[in-house]
Amino acid sequence: MPLHTGPEKPDERPRAANPFYGEANPVGGMTEAPPQHRLPDGPLPPATAYQLVHDELMLDGNSRLNLATFVTTWMEPQADVLMAECRDKNMIDKDEYPRTAELERRCVAMLADLWNAPDPSAAVGCSTTGSSEACMLAGMALKRRWAKKNADRYPGARPNLVMGVNVQVCWEKFCTFWEVEARQVPMEGDRFHLDPQAAAELCDENTIGVVGILGSTFDGSYEPIAELCTALDELQERTGLDIPVHVDGASGAMVAPFLDADLLWDFRLPRVASINTSGHKYGLVYPGVGWALWRSAAELPEELVFRVNYLGGDMPTFALNFSRPGAQVVAQYYTFLRLGREGFRAVQQATRDVAMGLADRVEGLGDFRLLTRGDQLPVFAFTTATDVTAYDVFDVSRRMRERGWLVPAYTFPANREDLSALRVVCRNGFSSDLAELFIEDLGRLLPELRRQPNPLTHDTEAATGFHH
Ligand SMILES: *Cc1c(COP(=O)(O)O)cnc(C)c1O
Repeated sequence: MPLHTGPEKPDERPRAANPFYGEANPVGGMTEAPPQHRLPDGPLPPATAYQLVHDELMLDGNSRLNLATFVTTWMEPQADVLMAECRDKNMIDKDEYPRTAELERRCVAMLADLWNAPDPSAAVGCSTTGSSEACMLAGMALKRRWAKKNADRYPGARPNLVMGVNVQVCWEKFCTFWEVEARQVPMEGDRFHLDPQAAAELCDENTIGVVGILGSTFDGSYEPIAELCTALDELQERTGLDIPVHVDGASGAMVAPFLDADLLWDFRLPRVASINTSGHKYGLVYPGVGWALWRSAAELPEELVFRVNYLGGDMPTFALNFSRPGAQVVAQYYTFLRLGREGFRAVQQATRDVAMGLADRVEGLGDFRLLTRGDQLPVFAFTTATDVTAYDVFDVSRRMRERGWLVPAYTFPANREDLSALRVVCRNGFSSDLAELFIEDLGRLLPELRRQPNPLTHDTEAATGFHH
């Protein structure tokens, strides 16, 4: 989100509005559009105001063709109805809206069970605005636990958090906002995410935790959480350091439980202290809802939990925001009820099938090399083959945009800054029919691209926000 500033020079020239939009009035109806950068002097009729805003929004992209985002762009009409029914409910008013609060509690219980908490009744958790807030909360809990354990040295000692260089930007935010050193494991060769051994080697007595990602926003790969825990077990045997793991399951925590039941990544691993997910990614709810869960109250220092009584009642909360919409939490509960485990499995499998099928077809075009195949997150990244010199991934991104497709192209971080890739995020609603149209458009583009004298797009022109 850009940090907005006002226009350098507000354009105060009168602009005409469609006379149709005005309401009949004695001076001939409204033909002048209201100013855009200061509050208009007077009110507009609601129909006029609606039409002006509606018209401007026509130029937004079509969200279903946005293959850059992980965030849900389609829900059923029944979910729309429920969300509309709840848009006036504030999640924080737990005593005024006790049923909404109860649905939130049930969602936490369902996730604790889904993520195999050893004692689901002991697990604690909350809804958040998204994974970013959930990660802030989880990071704060890690930091506070470390600070309490090291009260003799802190303040003074500088806490650090170990992670792969591929982490989502929210972890860099956490470290900056809460003054924690970010220790990042670089990429190496064809390893585009964290290496467990390298992570363990970065740990010391000031490490508040290690973040493992399921899965990486760069290429959709799962980080090896079980191997990470083993490496940290060995570290503990050698040095006595007991370092907790937080799993950033923004996407994967709602994919792996249904499609990769044998994969060990969750609370079955004793070292995993907390897990987050984005309800609005593969939790299949419109933005913004996320979830943060701790194995038990022992992992969440009590002093971070606030109780307010001025809304009536005495409900404990852990959150950055106070007021937050209740509709998304209700929609999450609806989705859980609606699909159940079998429904989720079917939906996520269909999405993975589309991703893997499309990855194969992209490979089959001959010009590209797959970095991932869509068989972990239903996401795959690909780059141009070494013999392709006439164009690059940024050209592909820009030209696909002409057909309406948003496919981000971006460069990788240390130590693979030499590598640029395109990434396709498949979501529920991106059907095999749409995938077929995508591959047709891409295939049709290649003869033109191959005739280019050299790559034509500067990378900053094409780079889009792939970090979602
Ligand atoms: C999307 C994402 C986030 C941030 O989640 P929001 O719900 O968009 O705030 C954090 N970590 C990972 C791995 C992600 O994919």
